[in-house]
Amino acid sequence: MRVVQGTLEVRSKTRFDVIDVTGEVERWLTQVKARNGILVAYIPHTTAALAINEGEEGLLEDIVELLKELTKPEKSWKHNMVDDNAHAHLGNVIVGGDKVIPVSDGRLALGTWQRLLLLELDGPRVRRVNLVYVGE
Ligand code: ZN
Repeated sequence: MRVVQGTLEVRSKTRFDVIDVTGEVERWLTQVKARNGILVAYIPHTTAALAINEGEEGLLEDIVELLKELTKPEKSWKHNMVDDNAHAHLGNVIVGGDKVIPVSDGRLALGTWQRLLLLELDGPRVRRVNLVYVGE
């Protein structure tokens, strides 16, 4: 069994952004010659999140809209007294920042419509996605 670690850098373009990182993660799996095992994807950030869902453009806008409704960026949250991004922290708490995905024959064993999505909630920024592959 092997354990391989790596990091992807992802640049978000707007305050709210959804970035499909599936292709980059699979390229990394190819580079490290992954075969069968699991991949842990983890973002070391408190104002972004990771989700697995469909990458359809309208749905990505719906996800942003839902998170805005739930986290109310315009509300005077206490954290906004020190840092004007409470909504982004709250979005991270709701969605989470890590995923474990099976790897089969060197590829992410995702469902037909599933993609690994980085949800930017306080961009634009450069984000990191830490990867750990455990397997053959
Ligand atoms: Zn903050």
